[in-house]
Amino acid sequence: MKARIAVLPGDGIGPEVIAEGVRCLRVLAERGGHDLTLIERPFGGAAIDLTGEPLPPETLTTCQSADAVLLGAIGGPKWSAPEAKVRPEQGLLELRRALGVYANLRPVKVHPALLGASTLKPEVLTGVDLLFVRELTGGIYFGEKRRDATAASDLCTYTVTEIERIVRVAAHLAQQRRGKLVSIDKSNVLETSRLWREVATRIVRSEFPQVSLEHMLVDAAAMHLIRRPRDFDVLVTENMFGDILTDEASMLAGSLGLLPSASLGEGRRGLYEPIHGSAPDIAGQGIANPYGTVLSVALLLRHSLGLTAEAEALEQAVSAAIDAGALTPDLAPSGPAVSTRAAGEAVLDRLTR
Ligand code: NAD
Repeated sequence: MKARIAVLPGDGIGPEVIAEGVRCLRVLAERGGHDLTLIERPFGGAAIDLTGEPLPPETLTTCQSADAVLLGAIGGPKWSAPEAKVRPEQGLLELRRALGVYANLRPVKVHPALLGASTLKPEVLTGVDLLFVRELTGGIYFGEKRRDATAASDLCTYTVTEIERIVRVAAHLAQQRRGKLVSIDKSNVLETSRLWREVATRIVRSEFPQVSLEHMLVDAAAMHLIRRPRDFDVLVTENMFGDILTDEASMLAGSLGLLPSASLGEGRRGLYEPIHGSAPDIAGQGIANPYGTVLSVALLLRHSLGLTAEAEALEQAVSAAIDAGALTPDLAPSGPAVSTRAAGEAVLDRLTR
């Protein structure tokens, strides 16, 4: 197959983890005889330094004409001064909006060898395998913002169409998994949540009768996620609740550095990135965990390129590398740890065996 991939390394540890993801992608392309063109572009703080803006027009057009976008991470203290006029994060919101990627998928699976890496008890974590579907381009993050001398407000709006399409994505994925969908809202307080609940019920009942749907208030969901995480299969929720709950859920796996994400819209094009940020505290030391990025490459292969076998091979290679003890310091705080490069090598090694 032939495809163009836009690669945006970004800031901090972004370029370090992207280098490993790209090496895996190239090896798999070569092995399968696929013609992949990788086009690297500046984004985030690195782009502000070069051009004055976080999402330069050339970066955006490259992403819009690509089959998939692979992103590292953006941001850092250099661009975070309160008086800064442009910020790396503005580029990220703009890129998501311009690509129309409204569905953010974040799978969380607990690897048996890493049960001790989480702060939660191993018996709570054994067998956890859940998938968050977060609405990404609506809600309070995108509503009108107002500020005067004595008050501020952020408007939260959802349309029926926005809710329908995200619930369809989640229900479709639940159908391919264990058939259990939990929709999370705050319908005892918010009007947007009451609409969300109505629409979710209608869509699942009429279009996905074999999927079981449960509604849960966001405060209860936050508690149940760490009390009985194994019970969840697919969870769907609005933008801000998803932002918060997915970071909470990431700790089930033991490290932010392990988790991938895919942001999808109507077509096959998607934006793929590890869920962590640019980790300025460890940037430049060569110790960042690259597995979240490598697993994001697997999601890219599966969702945008339709290369399921390659995606599975990559996921198995990461799992085998973890089994073999190729753990960066975040996963092995007291034991022997390996570098970002060595962790990438451990995956490549298993891919080429
Ligand atoms: P962060 O995710 O960068 O780091 C949080 C903690 O997790 C740090 O201690 C860091 O060292 C550790 N960590 C993160 N990724 C890791 C990895 N791959 N391997 C090992 N350890 C890892 O969050 P933060 O410190 O709150 O934010 C730093 C910057 O990143 C900020 O400018 C923030 O705006 C930005 N950010 C960007 C994104 C993105 O690009 N999508 C997401 C979140 C935060």
